[in-house]
Amino acid sequence: MSELDQASPTLRGGREDVPAGPVRELLAPRETALGGSTVVRRLLPNLGRRMVGAWCFVDHYGPDDIADEPGMQVPPHPHIGLQTVSWLHEGEVLHRDSLGNLQTVRPRELGLMTSGRAISHSEESPRPHARLLHGAQLWVALPDTHRHTTPTFEHHAQLPEITAPGLHGTVILGSLDGTTSPGTTYTPLAGVDLTLRQDAEASLPLEPDFEYAVLTMSGLTEVDGVRLDPGSMLYLGSGRRELPLRALADGSLLLLGGEPFDEKLVMWWNFIGRSSQEITQAREDWMTGSRFGQVRGYDGDPLAAPELPQLPLKPRGRVR
Ligand code: MN
Repeated sequence: MSELDQASPTLRGGREDVPAGPVRELLAPRETALGGSTVVRRLLPNLGRRMVGAWCFVDHYGPDDIADEPGMQVPPHPHIGLQTVSWLHEGEVLHRDSLGNLQTVRPRELGLMTSGRAISHSEESPRPHARLLHGAQLWVALPDTHRHTTPTFEHHAQLPEITAPGLHGTVILGSLDGTTSPGTTYTPLAGVDLTLRQDAEASLPLEPDFEYAVLTMSGLTEVDGVRLDPGSMLYLGSGRRELPLRALADGSLLLLGGEPFDEKLVMWWNFIGRSSQEITQAREDWMTGSRFGQVRGYDGDPLAAPELPQLPLKPRGRVR
């Protein structure tokens, strides 16, 4: 779904912004309109932070009452260099892609699309649809070694779970404490959905080499002593072996983490590359109808790419 609406290509990645130890940075969301009636709260990229591990894009939406609305309607659009993760708490999203996949993604099922060298897809609330829509849309940057891989779509209805008193977790992508999602990953990663009962207290085991952030999906929780309202994200830095959680009311969190992403990226619209020339080429290929295939069955025209400003980006090396 989610389209980057910034005007110019932006460099991401590299380790110079990754704190060596624990921090508690509260990231404010920015509201952005998507297709249909859906407004999202964008947490990544954020003014203060661009990536958490390979996670480079996080939108949180809902819960919205869409009983009399079209819901989500994101027309066919292209991607390169990334994976998209569709994650729902309420409602459903119908995914179509240029490989011919047609898949309804339901709450707590993983819809994982690996764009590799090129793919296009659409996402829509099916008709009819459930009254409520609540979820998150996330992107994972692919490392240089795998970013030209063959595009694929995976749907995992069964995901591994972790439990502790008052806490229930679903491992969406990557691993937590030795429990690993079946979703394909290309860098060391963690994406975990956590449900806490009111008054629950837990300590989550973390990888000290990973950086982490937590997004509040619902309820009222405290993460490392910081009270979080729904829709806000707390960046946690690295060097942590455990993370204290407390539920002031029933609540749910999304834990995102990973090894700091070492490569510099150029990110524009729906593309992740390594140079502005690559991005320009991808835009041209989409607008001339080559490379990205066709999404069949979507009721509407594909998205047109925005104008690309003439801002040549100097490639920058890795920074340690
Ligand atoms: Mn998309």
